[in-house]
Amino acid sequence: MSTNKLEFRTICTTTIIDYDKCEPAKKNIPNPSCGFACIKADRMYDRNILRISNNRPVLAVDEEAARKMSNESLSWEYACNAVGIGAIEINVDFPGLEEYRKRMM
Ligand code: SF4
Repeated sequence: MSTNKLEFRTICTTTIIDYDKCEPAKKNIPNPSCGFACIKADRMYDRNILRISNNRPVLAVDEEAARKMSNESLSWEYACNAVGIGAIEINVDFPGLEEYRKRMM
């Protein structure tokens, strides 16, 4: 994985923010056209896990604290996709899915 990504765990997801795609990080600008939609979504629908630092979204808490928090709304990924950029990927754990699929085949 590129080092220009932020990857961290929450209770049941893995989030990856790709700074090579993230508009303000890529251009190093404080007023991107995306309006930091992911940060706004975090304030509205999630747990204030993200903040802006050096013109990019970063963790507002340490990784251990993030690991104990929930972000099931998936709002960051939705918000970034809604502004047409798609720099955030949130993968949700689905324990037992593979075994279930095998049983159903
Ligand atoms: S909405 Fe997307 S492009 Fe904008 S700051 Fe967040 S991750 Fe970067």
